[in-house]
Parts: sequence; structure tokens; C-alpha cells
Amino acid sequence: MSQRIECSRRTCRWTGENSELSKVLDPKYSAKSLTVYNYVCPKCGSKSYYELPEPIITERVEHANALIKVISEHGRKFFDHKGTIATLELDKNGKVWLIDEYTKARVYTQYNGTWRRFHHGGTLRDLVCAMRDYITKGKKLSIEWIAPARCNPENGSIWGYDKEAAAAVRAAAAQLPIIEQGEQA
Ligand SMILES: [Zn+2]
Repeated sequence: MSQRIECSRRTCRWTGENSELSKVLDPKYSAKSLTVYNYVCPKCGSKSYYELPEPIITERVEHANALIKVISEHGRKFFDHKGTIATLELDKNGKVWLIDEYTKARVYTQYNGTWRRFHHGGTLRDLVCAMRDYITKGKKLSIEWIAPARCNPENGSIWGYDKEAAAAVRAAAAQLPIIEQGEQA
């Protein structure tokens, strides 16, 4: 049975399934010519981790994750790291977490201070907060959130997407239920 776990090392907090743990020989036993394996965090090698409950995925969480997926498929492919896509989820207290695609750690999105283990800047953090509010309050996002244009639109988007990629991601996002309808993409 697969079990979701989180690394207990504070600086790591890798999240994944127990089947993803790394199997390493225990050096203590190797010295005595015994083969004993340890299962350790694949990111930091820590032997200590704890079980995490399965994520709570509501319809609105699915809508938000669909937007993340669309963004990950265009331009600079934010939220995609070598095929791992960031995901949002709820806990049993109704709080929203983001699993960062790069650090593979859960980021608590209700926190006002610095988001450790979130490896994007303020623009995408604001977008994650907007998705969080959609999940918790049902407040849809304006299409203006997606790849916003620079003052001179010829220069592409403030996301660093060129004009074509920005137009493509907006056109795809405009179809999603999380985006306010009746607006021009
Ligand atoms: Zn770890």
C-alpha cells in the first residue's frame, strides 16, 4: 500500500510516496558484511520521516491544478520541473498547500511571511494566492492574471514569455472554469 510521507528534516521536507524512498545499504552493517537496507529521503538522505494524510482534492482544487498544468505547458513552463508539475491541495482544516515542483516540499499558502521551499518569485506567489482564494472562497481569476503584458505588449509578458507564448497560454487558460468568463483573452 502506498503511503504519503514527508521528510522530517526541517531544511528539506520532501514529500512523496514511500515507494519513492531511496534504498541504501546501512554502512553500520556493511562493516560486518551484513546486508541491511535503509529507506531514506531521496532528496536529503534523512532516515526520519512521518506519514502524511492523503491530500483533499475538491472540484475547485482540480480547477486550480488545471490552470497550473496549462501554465506548465507554455512559454517558460513555470511549475514544471523535468516533468514534475506543482499541485495544490487542501488539508482537513481547509488550508491550502502547494507542492513545489522543484523542492518537492509542501508550501503553506496561508502564511504571510517568506515561503521557504517555494522557488518562484513574488509574481507567481501572488498568482498562487489568487488560486488559493479561488479554492477557499470561489473567487474566480481575471484572465489578466495570466502572463500579464509589459507596458509595451510588443515586449511580451512580465513572466518573460514572448508575445506568442503569452497569447497561447492566455487562450488555453481562458477555457478553464477557474477563469472569469466573458472577458477577452
Ligand atoms: Zn529530506
